[in-house]
Amino acid sequence: MTQPATEAMPRDLTVALAGNPNSGKTSLFNELTGSRQHVGNWPGVTVERKEGYRRTASGRARVIDLPGTYSLTASSPDERVARDFIISGESDVVIAVVDASNLERNLYLVVQLIELGTPLVVALNMSDVAEDRGFVINVDKLSELLDVPVIPTCAHVGEGVEPLWEAALAQAREARAPRPIRYGRQIDEAIETVQASLLQLPGAATAERRLVWLAMSLLVGEEPAWPGLAADDPALARVRSTARAAARHLEEVTGDTAEAVITGGRYGAIQGVYREAVDEPREAGPTPSDRIDRVLLHRVWALPILLATVAAMFELTYVVGEYPSGWIGEGVAALGGCVSAWMPDGPLRSLLVDGVIGGVGGVLVFVPQIFILFAIIALLEDSGYMARAAFVMDRVMHRMRLHGKAFIPMVMGFGCNVPAIMATRTLESPRDRLVTILVAPLMTCSARLPVYALIAGALFGPHAGLAIFSMYVLGVVLAALVARILRHHVLRGEEEPFVMELPPYHRPTAKGIAIHTWERGKLFLQKAGTVILAGSVIMWCLSALPWGVEVAGPQSYAGQLGKALEPAVRPLGLEWQEAVALVSGFVAKEIVVSTMGVLYGVGAEAGDAELGRAIASSHLTPLSGYALMAFVLVYSPCIAAIAAMRRETGSWKWAIIAVAYLTALAWVVAFVIFQGGRLLGLG
Ligand code: GDP
Ligand code: MG
Repeated sequence: MTQPATEAMPRDLTVALAGNPNSGKTSLFNELTGSRQHVGNWPGVTVERKEGYRRTASGRARVIDLPGTYSLTASSPDERVARDFIISGESDVVIAVVDASNLERNLYLVVQLIELGTPLVVALNMSDVAEDRGFVINVDKLSELLDVPVIPTCAHVGEGVEPLWEAALAQAREARAPRPIRYGRQIDEAIETVQASLLQLPGAATAERRLVWLAMSLLVGEEPAWPGLAADDPALARVRSTARAAARHLEEVTGDTAEAVITGGRYGAIQGVYREAVDEPREAGPTPSDRIDRVLLHRVWALPILLATVAAMFELTYVVGEYPSGWIGEGVAALGGCVSAWMPDGPLRSLLVDGVIGGVGGVLVFVPQIFILFAIIALLEDSGYMARAAFVMDRVMHRMRLHGKAFIPMVMGFGCNVPAIMATRTLESPRDRLVTILVAPLMTCSARLPVYALIAGALFGPHAGLAIFSMYVLGVVLAALVARILRHHVLRGEEEPFVMELPPYHRPTAKGIAIHTWERGKLFLQKAGTVILAGSVIMWCLSALPWGVEVAGPQSYAGQLGKALEPAVRPLGLEWQEAVALVSGFVAKEIVVSTMGVLYGVGAEAGDAELGRAIASSHLTPLSGYALMAFVLVYSPCIAAIAAMRRETGSWKWAIIAVAYLTALAWVVAFVIFQGGRLLGLG
């Protein structure tokens, strides 16, 4: 027999990590590959497939971190990704990472992995936690019952990782599928019947390992892909009718649907294994997590606690953040002053001081706040509270026709809309997910804050704080309204019941929080260094060109652009300067501030106070200023967020729809504020 050439070529071994969310997959992945990774604590952080490499005696192995899932029934995109990857046969061995302190529940996924017939190793992770709680797990027994090597590990400190790796490589070399599980006579017979029929198919022998899974899929009425055969192949029709008959028989004798029977069979098998291999703590009292939940998920107090947490989060962010912000502001002003003093007056100095230092500096001031906010969000996630927040908010979110999980991206949106849009991946229903993506930009992100701070500071005096706060509220209210309308009229469909696992609480590690905070915060720094720098320079050039005109005057390119757009913003009480500023804010909303600085002729060395005075003495009134703030809140998200929308929805269509509807909505809201205010005699 001749081997195909490719078979003989050495290739990297591929090891896939599968497991429930928060079972420690990412920690293990880090230990195995040494590459830094996201360590999170609410379901679905590891949505993308992440790869790393590890040396082996004969070369290297590829390690893949699959999305965290509770099962492989493929009802969510995460589950589908994980399952399809394993079915594809790309991996030589799967490491099932299970939480030993929650073994019974985690075994569901293990059972399904055994059904898929992939070479398998179980990492009995969190074995320290299980031991602390008083579980005694007979590892050998467990391994014998499952017919899979079981290796206890503590992934967060790297314990057991070496033996695990050795076991995985051995399984991959042997390419041995675990022995099929027994589910009870009736189910087993049904599976065997379908299997026998499957074996008649051409090429069945090569799929032998997967026959159990194929048979079970057919029994529950799914249509697994059969490589090499067309869907209308008569051979397949025979298999299908055998499967239908077997399923009907199963339903007749049990009086339940085949799916329910099979799921029940899995649970039964798991219970059997669990009872034999595990001694539960004698005093099976409430776990520490249960005790914490009694307070934090209290029927009455849960919501007030959550609201207080969110309020404290903002308070901490802005009160504490103000100090380092002030220092950075002073530093930027001093730098501007220095450069002004050193350089001769001229366009280059103006470009540096007003364009570069002023533009980027005006944004850097907000870096401390953003990092503090992200650190708090990371703390909430890593401790396990964020998942509870989603649970508590479920009722409220359902009034917007959304799932409780949509609350998490909304909160993240207060930091930055980009991670918020990415965080929608945990939503199982594609409609919920799309609606959340479409309304997430209505959360006031930190980039909008400098704009509010500037305008409200200039026009509202002591009430600036209240004016800013009202923007946050306006955003949330609009998001709720839009979500309801979309869910009701455009993206209708069943509401998802709340099926979200609440992971046990963890004491967050400083390292984990630091990594989280840095991963999200660095996006902002990169933005300041690239998009915002470029945007500021472009706006400065537009306002200084053509040469010879009054800088930022109506004859400059910026002025001409603004004049052309002025008719559109006039009904909102705004003039050409604001039109230009809003156009520039399309790049990144922070740029609105530096554009206004340039257009109102105030340089960086003057500082924000000077610009505030210029705005206070301009045509802007509190009413039109408020309309402007609302416009900034609602209109098109920045380029980075638009790109994230395109990526996450997989097409430009929804990104463009979002830009269009948000900009139109912004105009309407600002119009209502300005004209309504005038009718009421406010302006
Ligand atoms: P994933 O969602 O499966 O990728 O889980 P992570 O790797 O992000 O881990 C979730 C949390 O559990 C993190 O805070 C880890 O530090 C922690 N963790 C991971 N493995 C262990 C372990 O063996 N014991 C303990 N006590 N904590 C662990
Ligand atoms: Mg993970």
